[in-house]
Amino acid sequence: MLTSLRQFVEGAVVGDSVPRLTRWGKSVPPALIWRMQEDSFRRTVRYAARHQKFFAQKLAEAGIRAEQVRRPADLSEIFTTPEDLLSHPPEDFLCRDPQAVFETTGTGGEPKRVYFDHQELELAGRYEAAALYENGVRPQDRVICTFDAGYWISSWVTYFACRAMGAFCSAVGKPDPRDTYSKLRLYGYNVIVADPTWLVSLSEIAEKEGAYPVKLIVAAGDRMTAAYRKYIEDVWKAPVILGYGSTEMGGGAGMECRERQGYHLDEFNLLFEILEPDAEGYGELVVTTLGRRVMPLIRYRVRDVARFIPEPCACGATLRRLSPIKGRRDEMVVMGAGNLHPAIFENLMRDVAGISTNWQVAVRQEGLHDVLEFRLELTNGVSSSAVEEAVRKNLETRYPEMWANHSCGMYRLAFKFGPRGALGQGRKMKRLVDERGT
Ligand SMILES: [Zn+2]
Repeated sequence: MLTSLRQFVEGAVVGDSVPRLTRWGKSVPPALIWRMQEDSFRRTVRYAARHQKFFAQKLAEAGIRAEQVRRPADLSEIFTTPEDLLSHPPEDFLCRDPQAVFETTGTGGEPKRVYFDHQELELAGRYEAAALYENGVRPQDRVICTFDAGYWISSWVTYFACRAMGAFCSAVGKPDPRDTYSKLRLYGYNVIVADPTWLVSLSEIAEKEGAYPVKLIVAAGDRMTAAYRKYIEDVWKAPVILGYGSTEMGGGAGMECRERQGYHLDEFNLLFEILEPDAEGYGELVVTTLGRRVMPLIRYRVRDVARFIPEPCACGATLRRLSPIKGRRDEMVVMGAGNLHPAIFENLMRDVAGISTNWQVAVRQEGLHDVLEFRLELTNGVSSSAVEEAVRKNLETRYPEMWANHSCGMYRLAFKFGPRGALGQGRKMKRLVDERGT
């Protein structure tokens, strides 16, 4: 296959240097990014039409010829879903012999399997290296990566990133934080790459016994709350930068810059779409892999809900940004208040005094009307009316559109209070449930 526009431009401008890749990646004009994406997208579609049984069949069913496809919309309703990956044998997606396989941590049941070759992993590492470089990591730094190893991709890509940069790297799986704490001084690590909850455990030890000098902490972003982040930063006196990605996207799909206002997306290797965006631009993220040839994924439904941030970033990088993930498509409830995600209610309840952390919001139906019912446990003598007032006030100030829909009668608010433990203990309850029609 002839060199793609991206490979040509990158080869001419960047070569093997990570600093040059970083500078180039920050300054590519959006029009050139779009041309490179379109070129890579067309090549990927034609390649997959010839080599991938699953996609070839989809094209045939839809009566679309690969040669006619220039951009994602030309594929109409053709997507690849997580369910497709689970229900088809790997042969239906494999286009050439793989050299590595990774699994996704699903919510129960069979894991999804995604195949790569070594070159694809190295390329993913190079782009992660550029993102790390942009955030201040240099060849003389020492990186410890404690992402779960096993069949998970992230620690491999981080290892390849450090290799591309020439930095010291220990990708050691997920050890006991106590064990890592003792190694921080021994090996002089000054960059930590890890999961949020593991970082909290490590930070609790460091808070009691003293933190070592660390220049940067990189965390998988989709499970990091603002409270965790602040705590970890306070303990280490170092910035926490979030990355976003998944096995299907080949590890990293985007990383924050020092502005920390959304993830700068890797638009060189992935093409992103937001499906059926609502009034604020939020919809399901859809991704096409642009460079992978072992198991390309075309219009893969990520199931995460987010939006593009169209405004230019203060850091000056031209790469488009993605908002923090608002929730999962399958957790979203559509009702009279709008499209609801559990994250909305986390944000509503976070500073309401007098309730336990165990709460639930249910969407019910009464006659022809939707009811948004808050089920709360009272804890320390704050009256139910004061709690209700606080929730209403947060709704009005933090989600004015939802409040406006309430004011014009599109749904009703209801509150149900019980003592601590009333909602059940010991299990993690679904924050948002749809009980209409049950
Ligand atoms: Zn930026």
